Amino acid sequence: MQGLFSKDEPNLLVASVAFDSPLDKLFDYQVPSELSAPLQVGQRVQAPFGRANRLQIGFCVAITDLSSAHPLKTIRKVVDSRPLISAELLVLARWISSYYCCPLGKVLAGMVPASVKRSLSVKPPQLYRLTDSGRACLTNQLSVRLGPKQRAVLQTLAEDDQSGSPGLTRRSIIDRTDCSGPTLRSLVHKGYMELFAAGDCFTDEQPSEDATLSPPDWSPNSQQQKALDELNGVLVEPCFGVHLLQGVTGSGKTEVYIRAIEQIIKLGRQAIVLVPEIALTTQTLQRFRSRLPGVCVLHSGLSSTQRRQQWLQIACGYGKVVVGPRSAVFAPAKDLGLIIVDEEHEPSYKQDTQPRYHGRDVAIKRAQLLNIPVILGSATPSLESLYNSQRLPHFSLIRLSRRVHDLPMPKIEVIDLRQERRLRKGLHIFSRALESQLRRILDHGQQAILLLNRRGYAGFVSCPTCDYVLTCENCDVTLTYHRHSRSVSSGRALCHYCLSESRVPANCPTCGQKLILLGIGTQRAEQELARKFPQARFARVDSDSMDRRKYKDVLERFGRGDLDILLGTQMIAKGLDFPRVHLVGILLADTSLTVPDFRSSERTFQLAAQVAGRAGRASPGARVVLQTFNPDFPAICFATTHDYNGFARSELALRESLGYPPFGRLARVILRSPSLSAVGREANHAAAIIAQAIGRSQSPVSSHGPLPPPIGRISGQHRLQFILRAPQAKALHEVLSKARTELFKLPVHVAIDMDPVNLL
Ligand code: ADP
Ligand code: ZN
Repeated sequence: MQGLFSKDEPNLLVASVAFDSPLDKLFDYQVPSELSAPLQVGQRVQAPFGRANRLQIGFCVAITDLSSAHPLKTIRKVVDSRPLISAELLVLARWISSYYCCPLGKVLAGMVPASVKRSLSVKPPQLYRLTDSGRACLTNQLSVRLGPKQRAVLQTLAEDDQSGSPGLTRRSIIDRTDCSGPTLRSLVHKGYMELFAAGDCFTDEQPSEDATLSPPDWSPNSQQQKALDELNGVLVEPCFGVHLLQGVTGSGKTEVYIRAIEQIIKLGRQAIVLVPEIALTTQTLQRFRSRLPGVCVLHSGLSSTQRRQQWLQIACGYGKVVVGPRSAVFAPAKDLGLIIVDEEHEPSYKQDTQPRYHGRDVAIKRAQLLNIPVILGSATPSLESLYNSQRLPHFSLIRLSRRVHDLPMPKIEVIDLRQERRLRKGLHIFSRALESQLRRILDHGQQAILLLNRRGYAGFVSCPTCDYVLTCENCDVTLTYHRHSRSVSSGRALCHYCLSESRVPANCPTCGQKLILLGIGTQRAEQELARKFPQARFARVDSDSMDRRKYKDVLERFGRGDLDILLGTQMIAKGLDFPRVHLVGILLADTSLTVPDFRSSERTFQLAAQVAGRAGRASPGARVVLQTFNPDFPAICFATTHDYNGFARSELALRESLGYPPFGRLARVILRSPSLSAVGREANHAAAIIAQAIGRSQSPVSSHGPLPPPIGRISGQHRLQFILRAPQAKALHEVLSKARTELFKLPVHVAIDMDPVNLL
């Protein structure tokens, strides 16, 4: 082949580009030789795509020498001034693409916040910096008179220069000095400062001011110290390992996280803390901020400017600690030393749109790639993590079995609602026991938390004679009645799946009888609470009554003692640490027991254990009243004795007998379409594709389906699914990697859900 390319022929390069498209492959393009700066892997490019050659943006994921004579389309332009995805995160993205069966372009698209993508476009930010004559001017070596605003601007630039920053943006000069655009222009005109394009440096993202740190006046107790000693080794000499920190509620897990992170920061490295839902983490975040420097948050509730600023601070290394929900696992930390996953059992770590990744499992993978430790914390670890900690060599289990100060766990009293019903006519949301406990609390000026994990006023609108139930037009579910104002009759029926609202007919459309409301939600409990305890100061906390700001406000009022009772959904069940809560009431412990999912027992146990854990965190004598129709269910029985280990043993035995996770693995393939016949027809094709892939791989995979999931239609989309089961994830992947490209080509929407957390 010698001589084919002569010496002076330009070196031709090919870029592999991943587009955010359902097409499950990469596309090769020729890199034009006239680019102003060399293209780097991790940057986005714009290129003609598809038969119509529409210009689309995708990530460059590899650059190779041109080897084939095959003609290629050419990249039009490079979009970003620097790579948005580091080599390390690209390896992680490839793993996610393969493990969760999602096109690489879709994975990458979700890894970087939109605001960052916008701001790092190829036009680099313009920065101002002082010139020599500007400097001379400030030190009066040049006898010129400056206006006060002009002097302030030059002074600010001089200070900035001293702090080692490359320069300041127009925006930040104006923010700091309150000067005007013409002032800046005239200073440049006179040659005292100059404008330049920031090259490879990020803009002047100074760390936001840290609140003054307030170290606690106590030291870790012996169990915490033991946990920290065990972690210390892997923090100082980093090495991959998963440390499951199983600590009862109030045992001081958060304290262990904080001290481990302190250590990481001392070593000059960064940490990521994943939390299930940032909105519910107000209190935890405050604790982190009061103890640690450089705490950044990353979540969708931030404005795009804030989000971009936080992202850049982390990328620059100013940000030391990143706190955020599952997507924060992709934080661009360059020198990561530790990842913590708080409440690792929470199902919200699983994303339910593509890429359908699990934040905890991606955290473990990232830690493995970086050879650093992960801490998974929970009072009620998922059975998967518990099982792994007993079986896998790189897992270890650290237990905090006692509450701090050796406080007792609150005593739990179980109320059998069936018996309660027999004794008292009518609908009673509060049992007599709960009512008397509430009185006691209010009399003593203490506080209570009441959990009812159902929004709205009533779960059903139904006909007492013909059993008609109001259902959604778009979904196969019943509608929930939501009261509008104080009056029960002014309400709407709401679908909790497609969010559509409809009027409630007064009479049954089939038999003409008057319709009635059945089932209880937080609105009804609120009404009852106000009627029974008119003197009580309380707030209802659910996603209808609260936005982020109101929620924060309510927690502050509760903390100050301006409220006696919080009544709400799972929004008040987790993480809250209020010393004066002496009573927790679980109005209906069964809300998730009836969900047709093999994890419903686990969820029921976890929620009861979590909310019970809010009581008695600073002094003894706290009580929990748990109301249930199923006092004999194992999940309920074990919850009432705070017996996580007992529950785990019994549930694991059951799962093993059924071959459900953590014994064996699952994947779902879900087809959906507005047309019932289309989804049925394509499901037959899918069945053939899956069967063929199983045949070719010879893996021990069984496929069940096509079958309608428990909810056959959501938002007008008919759904059919396959459940794939295998003893090991590897077998599932062998099959899915063969089937995925064919499946994604079917003319209906196809989703592959590896390790699903719900089967609805
Ligand atoms: P968990 O996260 O396990 O529920 P926390 O970390 O919230 O527990 O700790 C519960 C409470 O005890 C918090 O108010 C915390 O400040 C306090 N605390 C934690 N560790 C100690 C300790 N060693 N000594 C005194 N108080 C502690
Ligand atoms: Zn609906």
